[in-house]
Amino acid sequence: MLSNSLVELDRAHLIHPVASYRGHEKAGVRVLRSARGATVTDGAGQQLLDGFAGLWCVNLGYGVESVVEAAAQQMRELSYATGYFSLGSEPAIRLAAELAERTPGDLDHVYFTLGGSDAVDSTVRFVRYYQRARGKPEKDQFISLEQGYHGSSTVGAGLTALPAFHAGFGLPYDWQHKIPSHYLYRNPVGADPQAVIAASVAQLHAKVAEIGGPERVAAFYAEPIQGSGGVLVPPDGWMKAMREACRALDILFVADEVITGFGRTGPLFACADEDIVPDLMTVAKGLTSGYVPMGAVFMSQHVYDTIADGAGAAAVGHGYTYSAHPVSAAVGLEVLRLYEAGILENGRKSGRRLMQGLAGLADHPLVGDVRGRGMLAAVELVVDKAARTPLPAASEPARRIFERAWANGLVIRAFGNGVIGFAPPLCATLSEIDAMVERTRRTLDQTLEDPDVRAAMA
Ligand code: PLP
Repeated sequence: MLSNSLVELDRAHLIHPVASYRGHEKAGVRVLRSARGATVTDGAGQQLLDGFAGLWCVNLGYGVESVVEAAAQQMRELSYATGYFSLGSEPAIRLAAELAERTPGDLDHVYFTLGGSDAVDSTVRFVRYYQRARGKPEKDQFISLEQGYHGSSTVGAGLTALPAFHAGFGLPYDWQHKIPSHYLYRNPVGADPQAVIAASVAQLHAKVAEIGGPERVAAFYAEPIQGSGGVLVPPDGWMKAMREACRALDILFVADEVITGFGRTGPLFACADEDIVPDLMTVAKGLTSGYVPMGAVFMSQHVYDTIADGAGAAAVGHGYTYSAHPVSAAVGLEVLRLYEAGILENGRKSGRRLMQGLAGLADHPLVGDVRGRGMLAAVELVVDKAARTPLPAASEPARRIFERAWANGLVIRAFGNGVIGFAPPLCATLSEIDAMVERTRRTLDQTLEDPDVRAAMA
């Protein structure tokens, strides 16, 4: 089929996630044709380095034959098995056990979902059930961070703090509360790590008091690094301090590792970096490296036992047709094997190179901040470094920077406020990383020539 007719068919029928529908109709779709390793090929035959691993999910890289074979073999053998009626499949059970062995502390119980949003959604149901089971049904208020992202289900979108996910949708719910992000580059208390940590802990306490005290609050949610909010890296010790604050307040701590899980920041799970064990943890994306959909909730022993004992002989009424899908689980097992056979190690090496390369962009007139950990990074552009003035909206950073990078053979995430996000596949070689950084510099030089940017700098 000609790509022109694909553009027309797309325009007429396919609704795209988080898009301006009218804007998309005007711009048209960019069709991706194929991909191998860290390189994608578009419909016009242009090859691009994928600096964003799809949607920070293809951690392994594209087109790995043994993953394809694992999926095909599982489809031949047993293409579907429900977990209802106490049924199961070998790959799902094995994957649960392999993961439980690697998760921090006693996060030993796994509930498989189809992706990150329903993993977050599941935690909200589990948290409420848990608080009721321990005789505290009035603990039904939830707290998350400004700039946080926790998915696009109705409940998760309410925990998310990005305005586009609320406007017009009647969100957030009145039981969903926010406290400020640690956002080091723009934190009103400055960038001193201890001051930022102390401020976040104080803000959590203040919000809990405002809501009615610990007896009203069920859980606090945080990403180890805030992804969709602009790759915001907390100071070392922030996660641990918030985890301890939650323990002291008798609030469950839910770590959302949908982006950070599976090697993105270096270790298999980012919580390991901080030496913390959350009460619940969500993952998706890297779990299957984007080959097939799958997410998971990890539950610590005390949460599992409280829910199990609370339900007794009754069914805990939470389940999906495709939970623990055997094909996704078979893919998950092979992906995990490959991570540990060298991909995680390569990601750590290439991640150091990425951070060094991006740090080298700090002298560019538009670069206000460079931040990241491992293969998760961002460059924040400003028109005035001293005043930290963001790029003007008139320069359409999200569209124009994305398009310039694309023309330069690089896929990146360009946020509306002039932040450029990087999350390359962990298989990327050092020379591919160097090329990504070089193409980014070219993109920044071209952005510097943008008349709307120049006008704002004058
Ligand atoms: N939580 C976090 C931290 C995420 O970054 C995302 C997606 O980017 C989600 C949840 C939702 O995951 P999904 O898009 O797979 O539903």
